[in-house]
Amino acid sequence: MSPQPPWKSWYKTARWQRLRLQTFLRDHYTCQCGCGRIKGNTSLLVCDHKIPHRGDERLFWDETNLQTLLKPCHDKRKQQAEQSSLHTRGIWH
Ligand SMILES: [Zn+2]
Repeated sequence: MSPQPPWKSWYKTARWQRLRLQTFLRDHYTCQCGCGRIKGNTSLLVCDHKIPHRGDERLFWDETNLQTLLKPCHDKRKQQAEQSSLHTRGIWH
C-alpha cells in the first residue's frame, strides 16, 4: 500500500471546511458548471479546484481557484477530463 499524499489531510482541516463554506456562500450555493442549479444542502455540493492543485499548497488554498459544483456535475467533469487525457495520450503517444 502506498502512503496517502499529504494534501489528503488538508481536506480534514477546519481551515478547509471554512474555505469550502465560504466558496458555497460566495457562489450562492449555485453550481458553476453552467447548469445554474442551487442546492442548500452542502453535502450535495463539491468545492472544486478549477486548476487541479496536484499537491500545490498555493493552488489548494487559493479562493479564486475554487468554485461550487453539484456532486453529479463535478463527477461528470472529472470523468470527461480523464477521458480527454486518455484521448490525448492516444493521439500523441
Ligand atoms: Zn452543474
